[in-house]
Order: sequence, then structure tokens, then C-alpha cells
Amino acid sequence: MTALHHALVSGGGSGIGRAVALSLAESGIAVTVCGRKAAPLEAVAVGNRNIHAHVADVTDEASVAALYEAAEGARGPFDIVVANAGTASSAPAYRTTLEDWNRILNVNLTGAFLTVRPALKGMAERGRGRIVFIASVAGLRGSAYVAPYVASKHGVVGLMRALSAELLKTGVTVNAICPGYVQTEMLEESIRRVMEKTGRGEEEARRGFAETNPNHRLIQPEEVAAAAMWLVSDAAISVTGQAIAISGGA
Ligand code: NAD
Repeated sequence: MTALHHALVSGGGSGIGRAVALSLAESGIAVTVCGRKAAPLEAVAVGNRNIHAHVADVTDEASVAALYEAAEGARGPFDIVVANAGTASSAPAYRTTLEDWNRILNVNLTGAFLTVRPALKGMAERGRGRIVFIASVAGLRGSAYVAPYVASKHGVVGLMRALSAELLKTGVTVNAICPGYVQTEMLEESIRRVMEKTGRGEEEARRGFAETNPNHRLIQPEEVAAAAMWLVSDAAISVTGQAIAISGGA
């Protein structure tokens, strides 16, 4: 990772994004974490001189432009971008409102595009760069009651493949990590929704999610971060266009 100095991690204030940011920072890379709320970002940055918090909404083009201007102005161009910010909801498809559909697609797919787009030209010109999308196993197969989420994550895998093809000869790699259920704030929210809708207790709801991973265990955010660290390492220079499942066998 000799030549890589500055990383952007969207949604870096919690869960997988926080674990990725901490791992990158530990390896000596300057990390800009962004998200919509200052407090969780600052909590990750506090006491870690390699992590810098910047409030930005990935669905807002101007907000992302301001983030790039401030962060790259302060610490140099991003040579790693981890498009991690995401959101989820659940409902049968026939009850999914257009508002909900648009909201999920906006954050998960359009937001991922807006997060990486400003980095592409500069990375290609400098002949180095790493783009990592945090997609999902929902980007590789169908799942009931999460149609917009599944569609958005299939879209992210498609976007990753398109960018990888476009950047093949530039020294920039583009990959996606596709986790199964990971123990994060997003999962805690899903557990709360299941308890509310089905009347199940917390342990039963949690076990239900764990058992959806074929090996019946919840993945830890650090396991996803380890895969991201490999993808940005020198050893992975020939790995591009790949959707890597970390899913306990899904
Ligand atoms: P999380 O809720 O802890 O993280 C999501 C982050 O995205 C939060 O910090 C949130 O503030 C941020 N975010 C949401 N909307 C945003 C916006 N408009 N602009 C900027 N930031 C925004 O959950 P997580 O599990 O760490 O999720 C991270 C990624 O991993 C998501 O893309 C999610 O879809 C994906 N993922 C999660 C799981 C899981 O089981 N937890 C499984 C597969 C994939």
C-alpha cells in the first residue's frame, strides 16, 4: 500500500464503514469519513489522528462536491474510495411505496455512483486507485420483502462491473464486497422491525438473521474490513471487477 495516501469512506460513522475506516487509519492511511450526522463521525475520529470527519449526504451532488473539495484540498486526492453508505427497509413488494423505492435506490445506488464519480478521472490520470463498493449478497441473489434493497444492490454490482471495465488499463481496481448479515446498527434496526412486526423476542429475531447466513453465525464488521484491506493492498492489484461474498457460504 506504498503509494496510497488518502481514503474516503462513506457512512464511516458506524458499522462496516467505521471498521473499514479504523483499519485503513491503522495502516497509516489518512481517512476522511463522511455521513449525514456529525456526532457519530466525530466519535470515530476523536483520538485518531488519521481519521477526519466531514458531514456529507451521498444523495446530494453538491454536498459530495463540497466534501471532495475540502478533504482533497486538505489531504490530497483520494486514492481509495469505499462507497459504503446504505440504508434498508422491508415490506412486501406490493406494499412498497414509490417514496420508499426512491429513497433506497437514491442512497444505495445513486449515492454510490455520486460517491465515486469525482474520483474516477484523477485516479485514472495518476494511474493508481482503489474503489470498493460495499454491496450485499442481496446484490447477487433475490430475497423476500426487500425488493428496493435487492434491486439497488444488484445495481451496485452492475455499476462496479461497468467501472471496472472502463478503468481496466489504468491501474485502478474496482470491486464489490457482498456481505451476508453483519452485526451492525443496520442489523439492530432490522431486528427491531422484526420484533415489532412479528412479536418475536430479541434473541429469536437475532437468531433468525444469523440462521439466514448458511453457517448460522452473524458476520463481524471487522471481517468485512479485512477483505477491504486486502482489496486495497498491493497484493490485490490484479483483482478487479469482482463481487466477493462474505456470507458464511451464501
Ligand atoms: P449502518 O447503518 O451502521 O451504516 C450505514 C451508514 O450509512 C450509516 O453510518 C449512515 O449514517 C450512512 N448513511 C445512510 N444514508 C446516508 C446518506 N444519504 N449519506 C451519507 N451517509 C449515509 O449499517 P452497516 O451494516 O454498517 O451498512 C454499511 C453498508 O453495508 C450498507 O451499504 C449496507 O447496505 C451494507 N450491508 C450491510 C449488511 C448488514 O447485515 N449489516 C449486509 C450486507 C450489506
